[in-house]
Amino acid sequence: MTQMATTVGEVREAVRAARRRGDRVGLVPTMGALHAGHVSLLRAARAETEFVVVSVFVNPTQFDDASDLGAYPRPLEADLRVAREEGADLVFAPSEAEMYGDAPWTTVHVAGLTESMCGARRPGHFDGVCTVVAKLFNIAEPDVAYFGEKDAQQLAVVARMAADLNFPVRIRPCPLVRDADGLAASSRNARLSAEARAEALAISRALATARERIEAGERDAATVRAEIEGVLDAVDGLEPEYVAVVDPDTLEPLARIEDRVLVATAVRVGKVRLIDNCLLREVPEAGA
Ligand code: AMP
Repeated sequence: MTQMATTVGEVREAVRAARRRGDRVGLVPTMGALHAGHVSLLRAARAETEFVVVSVFVNPTQFDDASDLGAYPRPLEADLRVAREEGADLVFAPSEAEMYGDAPWTTVHVAGLTESMCGARRPGHFDGVCTVVAKLFNIAEPDVAYFGEKDAQQLAVVARMAADLNFPVRIRPCPLVRDADGLAASSRNARLSAEARAEALAISRALATARERIEAGERDAATVRAEIEGVLDAVDGLEPEYVAVVDPDTLEPLARIEDRVLVATAVRVGKVRLIDNCLLREVPEAGA
């Protein structure tokens, strides 16, 4: 049975009851409008922990753009259905007042990792993410928390925060999930017209080509970046914000691609901002 909670007290009570039974607690933090990407996280949590908590909260403090926050989908009924179908034990869908009261004076800031890529374009975004994730960790006290590699910078930042602040939680990365046409699954995709979606497919195409080039032995980061920029620039409706070729954990830009690389991009398609990436953990030897 899937329980529904809207208050911190209800979550604490349910989680503590689960712990008394000896259950391990898995937390899947989301902003709702659940899709195949979220489902993959829920399934990993279901397979690895006995008590699965999914939070559904459109966190206002991580939005740097009021129109993006206003347009963010909030289909709570459909989300509850998905959570039930996937066997979640508890859905936590708090109000803004429940999460922040009237004075969110404390924020969590991870330096360094948040200054580049999305952090450079979205002031305050990662402080909002870290603050809400820290709160969710303290509310649900999970043993394992599930985060998608789709949001690669977020994953690196949250892992750093959890380590630095000694949260007793394992951060479990989950692979990026794509729709059948290649577009990275995202709650924001619902806002794309058919035409915009067709244009947006250049993003995953460019990243797939980058992967092939690296697997075939390309080692020069600037060459990889320039090729992706070339593909994206050639599509009228796309406005790339950045293309980054970095170390997946430190997010330091790479000059030469060695054994691990994250190639990440953010692109505006009209009013919709999309992110996507390709992650290679073991780059084959050049010429191998
Ligand atoms: P969001 O609701 O967009 O804040 O995402 C909640 C969680 O789902 C985050 O950990 C995301 O990285 C993850 N997620 C979102 N989209 C995908 C995807 N296409 N593949 C894998 N994980 C995803």
